[in-house]
Amino acid sequence: MSAKIIDGKALAATVRGKVADHVTRLTADHGITPGLAVVLVGEDPASQVYVRSKGKQTIEAGMKSVEHKLDADTSEADLLAVVAELNADPTIHGILVQLPLPKHLNEDLVINAIDPAKDVDGFHISNVGLLATGQKSMVPCTPLGCLMMLREHHGSLSGLNAVVIGRSNIVGKPMAQLLLGDSCTVTIAHSRTKDLPEVVRRADIVVAAVGRPEMVPGDWIAPGATVIDVGINRIERDGKNRLVGDVDFESAAAVAGAITPVPGGVGPMTIACLLANTLTACCRSNGLPEPEGLTA
Ligand code: NDP
Repeated sequence: MSAKIIDGKALAATVRGKVADHVTRLTADHGITPGLAVVLVGEDPASQVYVRSKGKQTIEAGMKSVEHKLDADTSEADLLAVVAELNADPTIHGILVQLPLPKHLNEDLVINAIDPAKDVDGFHISNVGLLATGQKSMVPCTPLGCLMMLREHHGSLSGLNAVVIGRSNIVGKPMAQLLLGDSCTVTIAHSRTKDLPEVVRRADIVVAAVGRPEMVPGDWIAPGATVIDVGINRIERDGKNRLVGDVDFESAAAVAGAITPVPGGVGPMTIACLLANTLTACCRSNGLPEPEGLTA
């Protein structure tokens, strides 16, 4: 293996530390404590794990953490009422509705009911539009975490060829916007892309957000390229459950210049960026300077 491992766990700890320091100063100087509310509908086990972890890390960063756990058969009106209550609560600066929602609930409707200034997931249509037009917005946590890792490794990204594999609203599209904002030449690939291996071979930066275990092999990667693996896939191998990314780590690490591992890469950065976004939202709503290095 020749690639440098981009340690998302370590960088996430640094981000959480910066957030915690800033929160301490906010509370001491202004008597303000940032608050994050997470709304979970139903009992999806993976979502429950994420919500627990978010709550724990929010408290560790010195912020207020509120959880609303609603039954799986909660009506849209009741869920919207909870969102409205949180929108009006001055002690809450960030609201996250854990996705996916049960099928009878309209996700777009619910997300767009969140006050855009408190939309720490960055999924509200206003934030999507602000990001797309290069204006100050709340940026989706996973792509923000990827951007922070890329900036940390490269310094400037200007002029680099970036290929994002995946065009979802939560990862692929905002990732492409952020890379464009940092002056990369960006290609978005997807399931209909012709000759994907050739497209990926042109990249200085590859971001894989596909949801297919180990789909990207090392011989698609240009020597020295930086590989950010967003995928989280549970597979069974040698009789054991394992977590793997969308990139075949072993063969890719043999040619890449740098690569994120799974687990321990993008995953920890996502929650760290949620805390960073909550702090940013709190500073903005109070007319205070934003924390440096924690936004796009
Ligand atoms: P989606 O399923 O919403 O999107 C997947 C994208 O991959 C689609 O745009 C799809 O193309 C494209 N795709 C599928 N198959 C192929 C293929 N054979 N070749 C090229 N492109 C393909 O997934 P998400 O964006 O939500 O998530 C992607 C991965 O990232 C998942 O593994 C998810 O678990 C992980 N994830 C990790 C997070 C973290 O914190 N680390 C957070 C969020 C997601 P098309 O549009 O044409 O169908």
